[in-house]
Amino acid sequence: MLTGKVALVTGAGRGIGKAIALALAKNGATVIVNYNGSKACAEAVVAEIEQCGGCAEAVQCNVADFASSEAFVKTVLDQYKKVDILVNNAGVTRDNLIMRMSEEDYDAVLDTNLKGAFNMIRHLSRAMIKQRSGKIINISSVSGVLGNAGQSNYSASKAGLIGLTKSVARELASRGINVNAVAPGFIDTDMTRNMTEDAKKAMNSMIPLGKMGSAEDIADLVLFLAGGHSDYITGQVICVDGGMSM
Ligand code: NAP
Repeated sequence: MLTGKVALVTGAGRGIGKAIALALAKNGATVIVNYNGSKACAEAVVAEIEQCGGCAEAVQCNVADFASSEAFVKTVLDQYKKVDILVNNAGVTRDNLIMRMSEEDYDAVLDTNLKGAFNMIRHLSRAMIKQRSGKIINISSVSGVLGNAGQSNYSASKAGLIGLTKSVARELASRGINVNAVAPGFIDTDMTRNMTEDAKKAMNSMIPLGKMGSAEDIADLVLFLAGGHSDYITGQVICVDGGMSM
């Protein structure tokens, strides 16, 4: 159980982040439900948590912005005094072939997916170091492990997140802070929903377990990594992908 723990989940109004926020809250954590644009969705997640007897608050922040992330972390620490669990889940895609990819699309994906996680860890690490405990979980992707044609910006951001995870895990291990990455495969959310049926069929044929994963499949692992049963695990990249990356 995570009773007494404070968790901050970025991009938690929808998709995988929402499932993570619900799982952490149902297991007793107080959850900061971060959103960027989806205010109503984030407030609905908070309402769902409260209906189940849990505690949560929706807080807006564009994690890609260094100064806004700093102000966000300060607000949370002022109010809750600590953050025990940080889940860097916020992410975007702007897919294109490398020869057609604009600088803007490259930068936008790197800024949210990689710099966003850096910003949050950078601003929260001092407090976690002081409390001599913490769990940082970065949501990477099998695209960052294997690469994926048409996703050079996204794959670079998610591979970068793996490097960030391992370096920060080494830096913070002596302070009792675990840092791990989860690499989802093909998960049924808004991010994948607008793919054509043919593209989905082609993708499913690459998955040994033969089907897409659910947001809850990812949340189950995050819940494990957020709790005490994972205390001897750090600097790891764990794929939840139906066997895609083996
Ligand atoms: P999604 O349904 O598109 O949700 C993306 C979330 O990220 C939204 O809650 C969005 O918040 C948030 N977000 C985007 N930019 C943000 C910013 N600048 N600041 C704060 N929040 C921001 O995607 P998803 O499938 O749940 O993906 C969640 C994570 O899993 C991402 O990191 C994604 O790369 C990763 N992943 C997904 C899959 C998959 O198959 N779905 C596979 C591998 C990895 P707003 O709506 O408020 O903007």
